[in-house]
Amino acid sequence: MTHIIHRNPRTPLATAVRGLGSYLIDHEGRRYYDGSGGAAVSCLGHGHPEVADAVIAQIRTLEYAHTSFFTSEPAEQLADTLVRRSPPGLAHVYFLSSGSEAVETALKLARQYHVERGEPGRWRSIARLQSYHGNTLGALAAGGHQGRRRLYQPLLADVTHVSACFPLHYRRPEESDDGYGDRLAHELDTAILEAGPETVSAFIAETVVGATAGAVCAVPGYFRKLREVCDRHGVVFILDEVMSGLGRTGSYHAFEQEGVVPDLLCLAKGLGGGYQPIAAVMAHDRIVDAIAGGSGAFQHGHTYIGHPVACAGALAVQNIIERDGLVQRSATLGRYLQDCLRERLGGHPHVNDIRGRGLFQAVELVQDREGNRVFDPGLQLHARIKRTALARGLLCYPGGGTVDGVRGDHVLLAPPYTTTQEELQSAVDILVASIGAAIAEVRDLQ
Ligand code: PMP
Repeated sequence: MTHIIHRNPRTPLATAVRGLGSYLIDHEGRRYYDGSGGAAVSCLGHGHPEVADAVIAQIRTLEYAHTSFFTSEPAEQLADTLVRRSPPGLAHVYFLSSGSEAVETALKLARQYHVERGEPGRWRSIARLQSYHGNTLGALAAGGHQGRRRLYQPLLADVTHVSACFPLHYRRPEESDDGYGDRLAHELDTAILEAGPETVSAFIAETVVGATAGAVCAVPGYFRKLREVCDRHGVVFILDEVMSGLGRTGSYHAFEQEGVVPDLLCLAKGLGGGYQPIAAVMAHDRIVDAIAGGSGAFQHGHTYIGHPVACAGALAVQNIIERDGLVQRSATLGRYLQDCLRERLGGHPHVNDIRGRGLFQAVELVQDREGNRVFDPGLQLHARIKRTALARGLLCYPGGGTVDGVRGDHVLLAPPYTTTQEELQSAVDILVASIGAAIAEVRDLQ
């Protein structure tokens, strides 16, 4: 009998008792390769002794000091590290405990920026379909993930959604990358004009889409075009790299591969690597200067912001990523993983796409490639793949359902940057077998 409200009470869970490198071990001694890093969290794998030492040392020295009285050394050092590794201007950091809080904070920073500059009428946010920005009510309203929104509608905030950039399904046959990007930029421009630019505060997007659609990258030039539209209308440009940031896609920030710099950047999972619950918003000078020149202080705060132990753990994680060249490793191993997936699954009759960047890769499945027909969403193929893979010792992150316009089922892989080629190869072996078994199950039901 459990007293915990579990995610899915009908599915009994194993108890995780230990983490070791790329593996988790359950109460019966079974080993699981953490092929999704949880949900793209465990960038250093499990049980890293240096991170554990840093966390323990910090707890012994100073476990907590409220940020209305004090700053702390680990928080200051972590902020310095993030700023040093970011483009000029992105020079301010606000620490939080979760990705959802980071998104809420970015939306509020944008709002206060406008108020301080004498434009209090700018309150609206614009986000994209097929996106996920978190589960608190504001972040849920920003996300375009219908499955997670449905029960709670109408949501607190009224957010306008524009199309995501999903070339596989939504680029027209005759359209070039440039033409597709132009069409989407025009759609955002129209949405802002229809809402009234004087009412629009911020636009938010995941640089590489994670939870809803699985490692979807935009076409080249798309983000530059959208940034231009935002600039033209004075709209704050927010990138959500909670899942895709800090080395996951093979560059420190995912936006480095897009030729843009956001006004506000949301970070979380790879920041603490799962060793501590920690997130951050990085803010550009222009946002912070407007607040500094106005009322002086960001009107916000949570009890655990800048938590010294969380910051010490994250500082150790970021220092190890830098010292061990793990961003480069994510890029190189990511190419290797994509090659393995293409070799083993490229010709598979139900595999529609293999995509991603760095150690952020996804496989999309359909019933029929030529006719572009998806499996009946009721069959939950992605959940079956997760289940069969789990039973074979592989953790992967599933998603799908036509309801979000995602089309088809997918499985996301986001292993630790410390993993090896051999581990990736055996993960792909298990994934191939699991896809085969899950499709056989589904066929039996059809
Ligand atoms: N934004 C993105 C892009 C995410 O992937 C997630 C979590 N999957 C969140 C925000 C929310 O983060 P958290 O679960 O830590 O609140």
